[in-house]
Amino acid sequence: MKIRFPSLSLLVALAAGLTAGVAPVLAAGPRVIEITANDQMKFSVSAIEAKAGEELKVVLTNQGTLPKEAMGHNWVLLKAGVDVAAFATAAMAAKDTDYIPAAKKGDVVASIPVLGPKKSAEAVFKAPAAGTYTFICSFPGHYMLMKGTLTVK
Ligand code: ZN
Repeated sequence: MKIRFPSLSLLVALAAGLTAGVAPVLAAGPRVIEITANDQMKFSVSAIEAKAGEELKVVLTNQGTLPKEAMGHNWVLLKAGVDVAAFATAAMAAKDTDYIPAAKKGDVVASIPVLGPKKSAEAVFKAPAAGTYTFICSFPGHYMLMKGTLTVK
């Protein structure tokens, strides 16, 4: 009897330890949103919904095969009310900064740099205040086809 008690409490301690160890893994991290882009100038996702303040992780993967210089893709989430055409026009001359013009950095909520074929990158950010936000690929000539909306409620 005297031998069993310690082993039982050891089991209880072990179980408690396991529970404590598992809990952080299950704790909420950013919600992952996978978006692919391709040589046909298409994003796989054109609408995202989120709650204000929700942590999001957008993972962009370029599934294309054409060279980065000819068919690179980025992902730029613009603030509400930004003139998308004006941003995209200015972006055309901003190759050195991943087609995000320095003068318009303030228009951007979150972004992922230009990716070549088979490359992947991510952006982690908090969903802004309730509203509708446009995301685009600002690689020259792409935004008309490569765009979508983030709706925050
Ligand atoms: Zn693109």
